[in-house]
Amino acid sequence: MPRRDPDRVWELVRRYQSLADRFPQFRLREIGAVERFGLRFPILAVAVGEGPRSAIILAGTHGDEIAGPLALLEFWETAASHAFIENMRLLFLPLINPFGFARGIRGNGVVDLNRHFERPTAQPENTIVLDFLLQHRAELLVSMHEDVTSSCFYMYESGVRERALFARIVADDVALLDAIESQGYAVCGSNHVDGNYNRSGLVVSNPGSVRASRSGALEPTLLRHGVIRRVVGFETPGRQPLTDRIRQQQLALQHVLRSFLV
Ligand SMILES: [Zn+2]
Repeated sequence: MPRRDPDRVWELVRRYQSLADRFPQFRLREIGAVERFGLRFPILAVAVGEGPRSAIILAGTHGDEIAGPLALLEFWETAASHAFIENMRLLFLPLINPFGFARGIRGNGVVDLNRHFERPTAQPENTIVLDFLLQHRAELLVSMHEDVTSSCFYMYESGVRERALFARIVADDVALLDAIESQGYAVCGSNHVDGNYNRSGLVVSNPGSVRASRSGALEPTLLRHGVIRRVVGFETPGRQPLTDRIRQQQLALQHVLRSFLV
């Protein structure tokens, strides 16, 4: 494996270490590691904030979807973003699939990790991440993904059933999509995404469906275990330049955290 590949991971780890050194409120730890080709790839978790509202942020489940991990890191490296921490208790896993990220591949070299949570075929990454998250509880999960074949942004919403809360959340999501569009980025129109209907960029998926419960994906697994109550997922368009995708991830993250805190 060319040396430049694992360097992508070491660089990200180094920048998180630097963030934790400069801002002690960012409590960085390694929750496990995977070994490939004789190299050790750490899986990190960061806890920050002591506020009453709680959220978990996940990035880098799919190694070729690099905008999420980079956007999350740059978001916290910007000191102005720390205002979001004041009323929150945040936990984030910035790179769930470090080997995939190093290689620029979707899976971990064996499987797509997001089809193997709580499966007999679970990989070390699946076990490390799920065992850790099962020890936590949060109101909201933000999941940063990309659609490598897409040229427009869309998002997922799932978990909330109460009608009044759902109505407010959908209004927030529509405002998020408007904010993305107002910055000149394309939002996907209606189509079908993984068997769910996309309505003007918003895919409302049912985590209780047989399909979701059999998917082996992390998000419905965490809902099922009561770790979280609501999932918001971003899908930035892999066909756009990386800087634009990073910007869209950051806009979406800011928007969700801001509306969540209201
Ligand atoms: Zn993904």
